[in-house]
Amino acid sequence: MGRQVGAESRTRTVDYSPSAATMRHFCEKRFYFKWLSRRKQGWRKPLDHPWHQVHVLGQVKHANMWAGDLYHQIIAQALTTIRSGHGFDEEATRRMAHGLAEAQFDFSARKEFVVAVKSRAPTCQGLSTYLALFEHAYDLPTDGILADVQQKLDAWLSNTAAWQGWARLVDSVRRAPNVYIEPQYLKYVIGGARVTARMDVGIELRSGDFALYDWKCYRDDARFAEYDQAAFKHQLLAYALWPVVRQDEPLAIDRVTARVFNPASGEEQVVHFTDDDHADFELKVASWARMQELLFPDVGQVEVDDLDGPYDPQRSCPWCPFKGVCGQELSWHTLT
Ligand code: SF4
Repeated sequence: MGRQVGAESRTRTVDYSPSAATMRHFCEKRFYFKWLSRRKQGWRKPLDHPWHQVHVLGQVKHANMWAGDLYHQIIAQALTTIRSGHGFDEEATRRMAHGLAEAQFDFSARKEFVVAVKSRAPTCQGLSTYLALFEHAYDLPTDGILADVQQKLDAWLSNTAAWQGWARLVDSVRRAPNVYIEPQYLKYVIGGARVTARMDVGIELRSGDFALYDWKCYRDDARFAEYDQAAFKHQLLAYALWPVVRQDEPLAIDRVTARVFNPASGEEQVVHFTDDDHADFELKVASWARMQELLFPDVGQVEVDDLDGPYDPQRSCPWCPFKGVCGQELSWHTLT
């Protein structure tokens, strides 16, 4: 079994996302567990069923990612409020960020993520309190994590309010004919795969152009600067191509502009796209989709032991959310 299965047996459109592609490239086993958690509703199984454990670990986040997610949640809600005709109150937003961080941390500390269904978790000021923090999942010390995340949010919100582009964004969100804030429903097919364009913000401007906004809540690592830039542009293209390939009033790609704001550094980067970028994206997705059909045709056909692990297990595995299930002597493909 292993790498031959699934050849020529395409029955469904595979889903593509740049983050899934990066994960599969980095560690096929980690990708497998994430993929499995989406294919099987593990939360319906008893707590000790391996699929349930995979489902729980699939929600686990490290503190840095948690901080970034909180920022995204809060800005999305602030922009939704602005779109409905209200103003932006920085101090009230900061208080809400602190309260939400605390509520999510408490939820995680009580380990409610083990039994809760994410979409039914309690809310705090309209936002979900669901969180599964790596430290809570693996019973590690959590000293200072909440305070550190709240401090980060303070700094990031200050930098956002001071960012020159903020006033322009607020103005566009108020006036534009169509605004998409973290939409779940903008999908398209390219290179034989389905892509969900879950952009942070997309705005159809009165000029007919499309403005894309993306929040990048981490500092670049100088060692990987070139790789980061290429990977980042690829991720933006997944969103930028939606208005280009849609059936209704498609745009030329040079009418889409992405503005990337980094609240940690306060810097904005403007990214333009070309037809070559479009073609390159399509080729990469097609190549990924072909491999996906070979490697991951169906849960019953994938043997975890045949999959490749990370390049450097000693560095990667201790921090992997799935380390609690990876390596278990189980015939995963025969489970029901
Ligand atoms: S524990 Fe290591 S090998 Fe297993 S999924 Fe995670 S990164 Fe991959």
